[in-house]
Amino acid sequence: MDPLEELMLRAYPNPTRTGCPGFQMLRSMAAKTVSRSDPAWEHLWKCSPCFGEFVKLRDARMARERLKQIMIWGSLAAILLIALTLGAHRFIPSRYSGGPGTQRPNRYQAAVFNFEGAADERVLRGTETPPPERLSPKDQRLPARIVDLTVYLAGGSDDGEYQLQFLDGHNTVLASAEARAQIDKGRTHYTAVVDLSKFAPGEYAVRSRKWPNGSWHRSMVIVE
Ligand SMILES: [Zn+2]
Repeated sequence: MDPLEELMLRAYPNPTRTGCPGFQMLRSMAAKTVSRSDPAWEHLWKCSPCFGEFVKLRDARMARERLKQIMIWGSLAAILLIALTLGAHRFIPSRYSGGPGTQRPNRYQAAVFNFEGAADERVLRGTETPPPERLSPKDQRLPARIVDLTVYLAGGSDDGEYQLQFLDGHNTVLASAEARAQIDKGRTHYTAVVDLSKFAPGEYAVRSRKWPNGSWHRSMVIVE
């Protein structure tokens, strides 16, 4: 206990309790609902019995307040814990193991197509037939199904929006997609879902260009 309070408990005995404000008043004082200018405060500092009662009431109030604080913080901690637990169940599975709308990239078979080193179609116009040697730089194959296709673009391609098209021998566009390319360790690539499920097995042209009017890069693919 405070040494000054210790002293106060003995300094003014007042055995007859002369001028004491009464228990109710002391309780109000301990509850801090009595104005600091009230003469009862003056009396408190000159009456050890009143001071003793006041200290007990005040300490009891402070203990109740501490308990209330502990309970509030305890409740908040419990709410936080529940929220975290619910959050972990509600969000982590949907974000990382696939909830509605998040599964799309994983629902289709992953596939890769490579334009790195592909012919530049810039000079080819309309019905002009590209030289055959420029159309089959590699023997690339894709399955005849909906694919989650990662496309690697020719070296040095910019990032940004790209267009991708699959064409038949009559230059008819059979499938197309748009995607945002990014550069990763010097390689420019994008990923797009492309439906090749209606494609008859065979050779097709694939071309890609930067949206809206970059030059087409063209290559061949075998769909099987
Ligand atoms: Zn008193």
